[in-house]
Amino acid sequence: MSKVPEIPSDNWLDRVRTAISRPFTAGNLLDYGLCPRKFLLSQFAAREQMRALGRFRALHSALRATLVAADKMGGPAALSLEWLRDEFLRNFDGAACADTLEEEQTLRQGLRMLAEFQASQQDSSCELIAADFRFEENVEDLRFAAVADRVECSPQTGLIVARFDSRREPLGPTRLVRDLSMGLLVLLAEAYYGKRPTARIYSLHKNAIYDARLEDADLARVRSRALTVARSVRADVEFNPAPGDHCRWCRVRSDCSAWQERRRSLLGPGGN
Ligand code: SF4
Repeated sequence: MSKVPEIPSDNWLDRVRTAISRPFTAGNLLDYGLCPRKFLLSQFAAREQMRALGRFRALHSALRATLVAADKMGGPAALSLEWLRDEFLRNFDGAACADTLEEEQTLRQGLRMLAEFQASQQDSSCELIAADFRFEENVEDLRFAAVADRVECSPQTGLIVARFDSRREPLGPTRLVRDLSMGLLVLLAEAYYGKRPTARIYSLHKNAIYDARLEDADLARVRSRALTVARSVRADVEFNPAPGDHCRWCRVRSDCSAWQERRRSLLGPGGN
């Protein structure tokens, strides 16, 4: 039987306690809600393992890095398409693709999105206030963090916290209002600025903009959910695994004994 890497045995509980004294992000809370063991193992997973997430994650990561770099230089509309291409190629991790054909297709897809986004920005009335801005605030006695890809202001919409989205099915206005990650971002940005921003998604795949105004009731839900899950994390000493269909996409499954057990039972003695 192959040895299953598990939670590091050297004072792991101290290490995870140190890790969870850092601000909670929406990603942490969603991991814990899905499976406490996933939350725990994610604290220790090697960076390479976290990056091994396939070509769509690699595509999004390179697009975001390129647009953030562009925003820090005045925005994509102020730069040439060649500059965007070179920055995108520099940021793209081709190892995430299965073969060179997939890599080429993914690169073409990314370059198309960048070109369309750049064109759409030419007559934008938004003023860019910050790029890749991290909000960190206390909610009651717990600290939370969320990052906006952009903070903007426009005469029509006012203050905006925005994220780039490269998925085929991006967060539209309805899902945006219910999304914990965007909700936490609006909650923390409101505490920081003293006024409520509009949540915005730049859908790079669809070359569209989706805005949503979160109401008091929406933010009360986000706040309550975030506090409940964060308090559960603080109180947990076991971080038990909760296996399910979600294990299929779990980035730390190779470190998880519960998944290794499940895989053995699924395959049977002869692998059938
Ligand atoms: S593989 Fe499944 S049980 Fe294991 S950590 Fe991931 S989600 Fe949890």
